Amino acid sequence: MTHAIPQTMGQQFGRRSWAEPWKIKMVEPLRMISRAERQRAMTEAGYNTFLLRSEDVYIDLLTDSGTSAMSDRQWAGMMLGDEAYAGSRNFYHLEETVQKYYGYRYLVPTHQGRGAEHLISKALIKPGDTIPGNMYFTTTRLHQELAGGTFVDVIIDEAHDPANLHPFKGNVDLNKLEALIKRVGADKIPYVSLAGTVNMAGGQPVSMANVRLLRELCNHYGLRLYLDATRMVENAFFIQEREAGYADKPVAAILKEFCSYTDGAWMSAKKDHLVNIGGWLAVNHEDVFETASNLVVVYEGLHTYGGMAGRDMEAVAIGIEEAVQDDHIRSRIGQVRYLGELLTDWGIPIVQPMGGHAIFVDAKRFYPHIPQQQFPAQTLAAELYLDSGIRAMERGVVSAGRDPATGDHRYPALELVRLTIPRRVYTQAHMDVTAEAVKAVYDAREQTRGLRMVYEPKYLRFFQARFERIE
Ligand SMILES: *Cc1c(COP(=O)(O)O)cnc(C)c1O
Repeated sequence: MTHAIPQTMGQQFGRRSWAEPWKIKMVEPLRMISRAERQRAMTEAGYNTFLLRSEDVYIDLLTDSGTSAMSDRQWAGMMLGDEAYAGSRNFYHLEETVQKYYGYRYLVPTHQGRGAEHLISKALIKPGDTIPGNMYFTTTRLHQELAGGTFVDVIIDEAHDPANLHPFKGNVDLNKLEALIKRVGADKIPYVSLAGTVNMAGGQPVSMANVRLLRELCNHYGLRLYLDATRMVENAFFIQEREAGYADKPVAAILKEFCSYTDGAWMSAKKDHLVNIGGWLAVNHEDVFETASNLVVVYEGLHTYGGMAGRDMEAVAIGIEEAVQDDHIRSRIGQVRYLGELLTDWGIPIVQPMGGHAIFVDAKRFYPHIPQQQFPAQTLAAELYLDSGIRAMERGVVSAGRDPATGDHRYPALELVRLTIPRRVYTQAHMDVTAEAVKAVYDAREQTRGLRMVYEPKYLRFFQARFERIE
């Protein structure tokens, strides 16, 4: 049983306004360079927004990763860094906080999310293994592959349709998963890889009902279940909003219940936790903890800092507590939705329902005349920058990379541009400016041509690939 999805935050809360539960204490000046300078910067960057210099960007919606504004409490915490090599006080504070809000027993700190992905992949995956999951994430899948595994997508079909209004498009298709278990054998599946929310599907949530059934299925086949908890607080908000029985539960309680169905999690603290750097792996099984806390000293740092300074761990610990407050998460998602509503009102095709951390523009419908081999989403991200200095990110064929077996491009159903909203950084006026810029690019769509890739790196090509305009 699920509720209808409210179209605006106003519908949900009875009023239009969702003002931020904070005020601004310090500002960072922004500057917009001229159109000619933007064209020069884009050419130099090979039409890849990852290769732009930040000082040439006006509103930076590349990512919500490490781009949050910290609170005065977090900055005060930075001054309480205990920079001991071993046994820092801040580590114990972080460990306690993760146990309190996520409920897992053991904590291994890492420098960021992919450090934790590396550890869990190395600890659990053997060559020839299969790892099922609800749609891939770039770094997660690469670490699973580098450890010798093959990722298999078992998300529900609705997730691949940008217009489908399913309220929990991040759900695992339990029939697909069970068929896979029967085909490859449970002994070839080291764990099920569950992400909440699903970034590549447009920030779509997983329901509590789905994770409960998934847990039962895993128990039946003796499988472990690990969670990519990077944006799990946002996922918990959607459960509160849409799933029967959760409307009156605090987000913090929903988060903890969800995690209780899993055996552990990896975390990019750069997202939900409102910090600029940090991550962790947390698990319930002692054997996994032992292996991971041994591997961490090889790849990250001692098991009581894992690549973070003491002050960074303090900021993460405080950030966790701030992130799970209902008023925080409501205004965070309210701002994302405000931008999405403006675009929808102007008929611009975006992924529906709107996700938690970003608005995803559907480049296939935006540029129906540009074939996927000419990178429509990459093109749209470049055009948006040229129009107004706004930086977004491609999440389509470039991000999907090549199939390791055939060497061909992987052509994902979703060809998207992500307008990612940093937490607590921009105002409503910045969202208005952004929406108007997307509209201007949309109005010029028929004259726009695609791109050709002229340089392609081997790993995670979207970060460093270079392109030229097709004239
Ligand atoms: C960012 C991200 C990661 C990787 O974390 P980093 O901190 O960037 O290394 C893993 N999973 C998801 C869903 C992410 O968004």
